[in-house]
Amino acid sequence: MTDLSELEHTNSYYAATQRDKGIFPTFEGTVHTDICIIGGGLTGVATAVELGEYGQDVVLLEGRRIGWGASGRNGGQIIGGYGEALSIDPARTQAHFGAEAVDDLNRMSVECVDIIRDRVAKYNIQCDLRWGYLDVARNRREMRGIAKMFANYQGASYPHEIRLLDRGELRDYLGTGSYVGGMANTGYGHLHVLDLCKAEARIAESLGARIFEQSLVTSLTRGAKIRIHTGQGTVIADRVVLAGNGYLSQLAPEVAPELTRYVLPATSYVIATEPLGEDLARSVMQKNFATCDQRTALDYFRLSADNRMLFGGLCNYSARDPRSITGTMVKRMKSVFPQLSDVMIDYHWGGHMGIGLNRIPQLGLLDENIFYAQAYSGHGVAPTHMSGRILAEALVGDARRLELMAGVAHKPFPGGRMLRHALFATGMAYYKLKDELV
Ligand SMILES: Cc1cc2nc3c(=O)[nH]c(=O)nc-3n(C[C@H](O)[C@H](O)[C@H](O)COP(=O)(O)OP(=O)(O)OC[C@H]3O[C@@H](n4cnc5c(N)ncnc54)[C@H](O)[C@@H]3O)c2cc1C
Repeated sequence: MTDLSELEHTNSYYAATQRDKGIFPTFEGTVHTDICIIGGGLTGVATAVELGEYGQDVVLLEGRRIGWGASGRNGGQIIGGYGEALSIDPARTQAHFGAEAVDDLNRMSVECVDIIRDRVAKYNIQCDLRWGYLDVARNRREMRGIAKMFANYQGASYPHEIRLLDRGELRDYLGTGSYVGGMANTGYGHLHVLDLCKAEARIAESLGARIFEQSLVTSLTRGAKIRIHTGQGTVIADRVVLAGNGYLSQLAPEVAPELTRYVLPATSYVIATEPLGEDLARSVMQKNFATCDQRTALDYFRLSADNRMLFGGLCNYSARDPRSITGTMVKRMKSVFPQLSDVMIDYHWGGHMGIGLNRIPQLGLLDENIFYAQAYSGHGVAPTHMSGRILAEALVGDARRLELMAGVAHKPFPGGRMLRHALFATGMAYYKLKDELV
């Protein structure tokens, strides 16, 4: 599904409907720069925008197209939370970051969404942005978890309206009887994520960044001046940002082998129906709030601006695609929305996301001049923007928030390159089974 030999976007709803179909040049020759960013997903372009706003000299190298990776293929759901703060037990945030950092993490959990909100307004980005998000529960156990999350949000003085919903109230949001309740949150939302990513690349370019596509970094020579090699040239930089995330190790494992052990590429899939028409669309999602259930291998869905159902899920840790992605996903969609039984599926696709064992984004520094951010564990549209800001702050001299994130003790996946997918898939199968036992 994710053919790594492809140089163009996968055949997704986003690629077919992106507003800006223009491209960026391929890198050639030898160029000097202060900062070279490797990877043009949301982490890379968000970092480039922040650095551009600081007036920094930036070159960004993307191996395929801007947004080619997870950033141009995801569910488009803007969900806050950074370092797992807000939604989980504050005790867990404390255990990872220390008690005095809980407020900082809660603030970043809101800030990551505000960055998108503010940037879309500041630069007038056209990306179908809509606000409204639902966490839904399939049973009473999951509803107790949501109630706990609601209390965490309240305890953290979350600034947007949140509301617990019982089964009846949920009917005002979703045309399905699959859920016993949920939590509505007006502070999260959804958008056309490839349009956002591409627009952010254009903004970075307008602020002075030199951006190149189809410029895969094949090796990197470390030192005070880092030499970054592509097939057609060399960038010589004082500092590098590695933003290849779930694809870095697959496309060029030798670029930073020490990061590979901490991030496992898992696959998730999305189908996009034909446009449903206004009546059917409103009957399934009255308010078009982006929605996620509570499982490890969760269902997530929303409507696009042209009223297609974008239904995602089937998180797969085995690195093997299911025999029929459409067949499996349609079955899941129909089980939630039987009224969509007869609709056509116009697009289906999958993508890799970088998973970390503790599900906290991994940020840090190698060799004093190589910065990195990766492993958003399926939840990166907003958090990548926080990482971009933290990396840019550190690159211009304020490393406080980078040090906070880099201080987390991450654990490598066991099993080495050969066995880690198999071991992790077995572990996740256990959690999937647990999710089904009510
Ligand atoms: C199907 C799917 C659905 C998802 N749904 C959601 C959602 O609804 N909400 C949410 O918050 N998160 C979601 N996620 C997760 C989210 O998309 C990611 O966390 C986020 O996009 C990660 O962005 P990134 O820039 O770090 O990595 P990516 O977007 O993967 O970008 C990495 C880029 O680096 C490039 N690259 C790698 N190596 C090199 C190299 N050697 N040289 C040059 N370039 C290189 C790649 O080509 C790629 O474009 C989903 C992910 C998937 C796959």
